[in-house]
Amino acid sequence: MTTILLWLALSHMPVAPATVTLAACPAYLPDRWSCYDPSAATVYLEPSEAQPRKVLFHEEGHAFDALALKAGDRRRLLPLLGFSRRTPWDWTGDVHDEAVPDPPAELFADAYATCALGVRVHFYATRPTKPAVCRLIRRVHAGRPIHAT
Ligand SMILES: [Zn+2]
Repeated sequence: MTTILLWLALSHMPVAPATVTLAACPAYLPDRWSCYDPSAATVYLEPSEAQPRKVLFHEEGHAFDALALKAGDRRRLLPLLGFSRRTPWDWTGDVHDEAVPDPPAELFADAYATCALGVRVHFYATRPTKPAVCRLIRRVHAGRPIHAT
């Protein structure tokens, strides 16, 4: 757990006030490994993840989405993530099913992780993260305090 606190302290992005639990996702959520549970504002990090730091910041991206982003922020992010402004932010589907395209919410979580780690290229997706995405995340944090609800 000390390592996780160090990783969060070294993040290049503001971190949402979510709890981090070193455990698999609860059974009532569809993910079997790591996840963000919005009902508890908790990031679950499955202890045997092969790339725990990257997965932690992907899930922290979902937490930041839920706790800090407003509808207008998501509308501004859509074109930066390669979507039209009319694209729904999220849709149901198995994120591990290659036949179902990732929704903007998933690509935002990837982009958040990329920004937080201070690297340039998505670790899941093939497209690079635009620096404007990282700037918007910083502006959201600078513009209003974030609180768990
Ligand atoms: Zn995700």
